[in-house]
Amino acid sequence: MGLVPEGDTIHYAAGRIRAVLEGHVPDELHTPHPRFGRDRWPERLAGRAVRSVDARGKHLFLRFEGGLTIHSHLRMTGSWRVLERGAAWSRSPRAAWLVIRRGDREVVQFNGPVLELMTDARTRFDRRIAGLGPDILAPDLDTATFLRRLREDDPTRPIGDALLDQRTIAGIGNLWKVESCFAAGIDPWRPAGEVGDDEALAILAEARPRMRISAQDGVQDRFRVIYGRSGRPCPRCGPPARIRVRGQWDDNRPTFWCPSCQT
Ligand SMILES: [Zn+2]
Repeated sequence: MGLVPEGDTIHYAAGRIRAVLEGHVPDELHTPHPRFGRDRWPERLAGRAVRSVDARGKHLFLRFEGGLTIHSHLRMTGSWRVLERGAAWSRSPRAAWLVIRRGDREVVQFNGPVLELMTDARTRFDRRIAGLGPDILAPDLDTATFLRRLREDDPTRPIGDALLDQRTIAGIGNLWKVESCFAAGIDPWRPAGEVGDDEALAILAEARPRMRISAQDGVQDRFRVIYGRSGRPCPRCGPPARIRVRGQWDDNRPTFWCPSCQT
């Protein structure tokens, strides 16, 4: 079962890209994918330094001098890689949407699917971005806004699904939904309206430190305790309790949980 990028994946990529590009004018920038044919990114960005590279939830921003920003969202398929110039790519060159080189390093964006050049003003007003909830990985987590948005949402929605809503909390995807509900001992199927504030915050308190470590070193797998392990004994209560899986809510994302110790 493949994992989709989550907030820690994006923050990790931002850190790697920042180390190569921030404060520098790239030596080369090109957009090999045919969809950018007439967009002239190389001309529009020529000679401009990268002011900053930052992540918010699952969105990544490369901000250039002159008020232009590249906005990326990887959805289920995209990725960012930082590679040695000339090194073999693990993906087809046809999958590269954007290549930015500085010195002997190449920053490559594969498979989009959201990759756009916009003005700084638009990044502030774009509904997809302006509507984001607090970033789970922000230095100071805005728990008041999280709780307010959670309570404004449908109270019958399962808490596991509510955590995936980027307007409530930005950066949690299906893996972290599963693992943090398990770590907090909370049933992801319980309606959000029946989950207390302290319990909702307990879930975030389990997710956040793990995600911060993963965002630093890019190693997410070590935090997989029950994800992908349906039918196995529960690592907390042991046999006969077994991990179950079922698709959750609208988009049917697989939800793993232990019916015995998650209540
Ligand atoms: Zn259990």
